Amino acid sequence: MPKWPPRWIEISDKDVLAAIAHVPRHRFVPEAQRQHAYEDRPLPIGHGQTISQPFIVALMTQLLELDSQARVLEIGTGCGYQTAILAELAAEVYTIERIPELSQRASRILSELGYDNVHFRVGDGWQGWPQAAPFDGIIVTAAAPIWPPQLLEQLADGGRIVLPIGPAGGDQILWQGIKTGSQLIRNRIGPVRFVPLISDADDHPFDIEYDDLI
Ligand code: SAH
Repeated sequence: MPKWPPRWIEISDKDVLAAIAHVPRHRFVPEAQRQHAYEDRPLPIGHGQTISQPFIVALMTQLLELDSQARVLEIGTGCGYQTAILAELAAEVYTIERIPELSQRASRILSELGYDNVHFRVGDGWQGWPQAAPFDGIIVTAAAPIWPPQLLEQLADGGRIVLPIGPAGGDQILWQGIKTGSQLIRNRIGPVRFVPLISDADDHPFDIEYDDLI
């Protein structure tokens, strides 16, 4: 595998850097992991899930290209750290998590930190949040098997979607999609490793041949 991240990928967006500097990551990681909170690596957050590496959080946020009026949808609230970064940059954040305990914990920490522009939902993010669509940005922090059709539908014209696509535990690619009219421009960013996006939905494919689909 080539060296990752390649040198041409930089976090140069000043607003993203300011948000990363401002949000206290140690508040989101479990007590036992606190001494590692400011290391540039993922950490376990319980329930078999992980808080993403800060570099990846910054990169995915930068790829969303949010402005302060933006409405953004996040799939995979997890510990809520990425949610807080989004809440710093966007007007409204809608975030979905399938594990109730994680959603509740994230909601408590974000309100303790004073964020009042975040809407939490426990459920299946594969289906998105149609009642609140369209979104200027959609970020998925678990690996999807394919481009999720409902999420693409819920993306505003000109909006960006950033997500890892690939098999659980296998080779996944981080993508940025830009919706322009009926087209989706797909920018391949690089290899990543995320926990899988889990869904019982009928149209959520498992055991597929990835090369045929992306
Ligand atoms: N951004 C989070 C990432 C957590 S890991 C953080 O940095 O803490 C990915 C999360 O996606 C997990 O919490 C997992 O439970 C959640 N997830 C997986 N499939 C999901 C689905 N279909 N809908 C909503 N959340 C999902």
